[in-house]
Amino acid sequence: MKDNFDRRIDYMRLSVTDRCNLRCFYCSPGRNFVFIPPSEVLSYEEFLRLARLSLEIGVTRFRITGGEPLVRKGLAGFIRSLVELKGTGDIALTTNGILLRDNLDALWEAGLRRINISLDSLDPHAYREITGGGNLQNVLDAIDGALEKGFSPVKINAVLLKGKNDDLSPFVALASEKHVHVRFIELMDFSPNQGYFVSGREAMESLARFGRPEEAAAPEGAGPARYFTLPGMKGTIGFISPYSDHFCASCNRLRISADGRLLPCLFSGWSVDLKKILRSGTDDGSLKTALRDALSRKPRRREEAAAGERGNGLRTIGG
Ligand code: SAM
Repeated sequence: MKDNFDRRIDYMRLSVTDRCNLRCFYCSPGRNFVFIPPSEVLSYEEFLRLARLSLEIGVTRFRITGGEPLVRKGLAGFIRSLVELKGTGDIALTTNGILLRDNLDALWEAGLRRINISLDSLDPHAYREITGGGNLQNVLDAIDGALEKGFSPVKINAVLLKGKNDDLSPFVALASEKHVHVRFIELMDFSPNQGYFVSGREAMESLARFGRPEEAAAPEGAGPARYFTLPGMKGTIGFISPYSDHFCASCNRLRISADGRLLPCLFSGWSVDLKKILRSGTDDGSLKTALRDALSRKPRRREEAAAGERGNGLRTIGG
């Protein structure tokens, strides 16, 4: 499945809930954590129908995200059903890791093999401050448990935050000691976050302080990240830099929000209301048309998406 700019779109993020057990200060600032009413959140059956139709039009890979996906009951069963759909390739779970340790067995039995764990600090106090009360030890236990169980690759995502975690040494130590792939992600510019921005390029350059970095092969399921290794390191260090390294040209993803909006670009508020279409009793053919239509509106670059919004206001279409 190609979009208008010849990009092969084969990757879909499913946000199975907007609820979260953490309150990271930079995530959805100003939203005040008002959640979508449960009746407006897609059921697992609705997500599975969209996933099945997306597979039919060329999606092969799914990432389960949120909110925090593990706060939604029945997640392992949903993943099992997703694994069993015809044509499903890779599935990964993105989680903050707080509830992960106790769910590892069920997730493994459901067929999940890849986990991305968000972890912005390895200092318990800083972690608690950034996440609004999270317990670092839960996440560290989950990382060890995931590695012991055989999940691979285990990726650790850290959003770069000036003055909070921009000393990379604890993360370099983690990737040196354990077979994990630490990826530093540039902060998205929701306006109250601006003072915390650290460029990925700057962080990448600072890696040289720890030895001579060598560019490394990307682990399985890799998105638009660049990976490096240092002498003696078991894992890798990666950088995902949408601002300092434009990667729109290779963007291969679509997203479905918890309330069933399909977002062709994370940097655009533009979406298609798939829930409205789903719940109108429509047939599979019309839903596939809606999916293709959304794809055809994927902007070439995030700047164009943002410029379109400034001109038109945020739009959601559907029905
Ligand atoms: N709860 C799950 C987790 O923590 O991985 C999944 C959802 S969370 C929104 C997904 C990722 O988005 C996390 O790694 C989080 O740090 C990151 N994130 C949230 N707000 C962000 C922002 N403003 N800029 C960059 N990344 C952000």
